[in-house]
Amino acid sequence: MDKPLKFAYSKTPYRYVSYFKDGKWSKGELTTNDTITLSESACVLQYAQTCFEGLKAYKTKEGKIVCFRPDLNAERMISSCERMKMPPIDKEEFIKACMKVIKANENYIPEFGSGGSLYLRPFMIGTTPVLGVKPSLEFEFRIFASPVGAYFSTPVKPLNLRICDLDRAAPNGTGGIKAGLNYAMSLYAIVDAHEKGFDENVYLDSASRTYIEETGGANILFVTKDNKLVTPSSPSILPSITRRSIVQIARDYLHMEVEERRIHVDELENFVECGLCGTAAVISPVKTIYNQGKTISFEVNENGFGNVLEKLRHLLMDIQQENIEGPSGWVFEIK
Ligand SMILES: *Cc1c(COP(=O)(O)O)cnc(C)c1O
Repeated sequence: MDKPLKFAYSKTPYRYVSYFKDGKWSKGELTTNDTITLSESACVLQYAQTCFEGLKAYKTKEGKIVCFRPDLNAERMISSCERMKMPPIDKEEFIKACMKVIKANENYIPEFGSGGSLYLRPFMIGTTPVLGVKPSLEFEFRIFASPVGAYFSTPVKPLNLRICDLDRAAPNGTGGIKAGLNYAMSLYAIVDAHEKGFDENVYLDSASRTYIEETGGANILFVTKDNKLVTPSSPSILPSITRRSIVQIARDYLHMEVEERRIHVDELENFVECGLCGTAAVISPVKTIYNQGKTISFEVNENGFGNVLEKLRHLLMDIQQENIEGPSGWVFEIK
């Protein structure tokens, strides 16, 4: 029997590559070459000029191959590129390139019902050799695909988080874009969290260290006693497509009141449910958050989820699977 798929890199035959030179992008193409040859002084290696995206392709019940809101990944990559002084990829080109990679690796898309998907990783790097700090002149844009398994093993194990002493993003920094540098600085904190028995770090706003921002790789959601969905708003939070989708379906499908606002760390005790959201897991349930000697607990049912967040998670997954009709354009067919 094959080993069950995990959320880990596994090589597929084809990836997309395009090169920026003399002020323009080359016509992109598929390649089987999974390696990149660079100058030792390439801007990405010395000064981390790189950004990325993450989205999944999967099969619906009817066997259609689809992606979820790839237009928003394209838009977010454009804003990441602008902040990183990199030449953005046209929205249509980005989506077309994703489609090419998905179709070329079609045999690697997990079957419907397996819970797995083909994860796409578009990314861009600055390739010009530099020594003085300046943006690269030449760039490489790639998209590779990796099949990944269901995010959760059953039974679902709700997460235990801690408020982190280290910071993730400065108020006018790069927290709002998907840049590798935001992850490099989180490695120390995540290893430390794991050593101390926590699953993830919750970061506070670094200016006042009083407001909840997000974890290293996911936005955070809360539910109040009176059934309100509350999620932090801050310019230094990465604008999660999953979170924006959940906010919309909470309002439009469940007619919930939704607050997107600053959330003081002292408010944690007022919330009944907590979850993390992102492409891979949709919503991961949170059981506890540890903060300065105190552990705050959230409700989880026998499935490991809070009731309201479980409902929202199923609703979003039903829309993604086309079991129910979602807002127009959310499920994008690959043809
Ligand atoms: C990618 C990412 C998310 C999740 O975004 P989705 O678009 O929902 O996958 C959340 N926080 C950070 C820091 C991220 O990099």
